[in-house]
Amino acid sequence: MVSAIDKTGAPLWDVCPVFASKTHFHLLTTQIAEHYNDKNIDAVLALDALGLPLGGAVATALQTGLILVRKGGKLNLPANRKTFLSFKDYPEKEKDLETLEVRSELIARGSRILVVDEWMGTGAQMNAAAKIVEGLGGVVAGMACLYCFPDAELNMQLKEKYDLWSANCLKCTYFECRCK
Ligand SMILES: [Zn+2]
Repeated sequence: MVSAIDKTGAPLWDVCPVFASKTHFHLLTTQIAEHYNDKNIDAVLALDALGLPLGGAVATALQTGLILVRKGGKLNLPANRKTFLSFKDYPEKEKDLETLEVRSELIARGSRILVVDEWMGTGAQMNAAAKIVEGLGGVVAGMACLYCFPDAELNMQLKEKYDLWSANCLKCTYFECRCK
């Protein structure tokens, strides 16, 4: 899955080969669905951009609806019909605020939402999505991703707070588990 090596020698991951593999994409989708199958999920909330295909597949496997969260400005709706939240993804990029937005009426009060993204780097995006859901009265019934970076403090806080599933072991920084 490594597509390049950055200047520091750290691997740069690309999920496209996982999604392209009929073995691995099916396995990933099935494992997420099995984990949340008995958790009464009403809808999958998928995050723009690479969370969208994965969320769609998970929603199909769980037979739930699919709610799309778009990046700021992508949702062509007046402000009073969408809920948005701006957040900092990387603390060192002080001025760079990212925004997520969703059609407000799609998240029903009390509905149980599984938030899906392909990747949890800093956790800021997943955290923002959870705040949007809870702000609209929904319940974050789970968070699922292909990879969750265990060294990010916010990721570990989210793991404590929510039912978080990821394909990696949540102890090893590298994708391949080295702790077993
Ligand atoms: Zn491990």
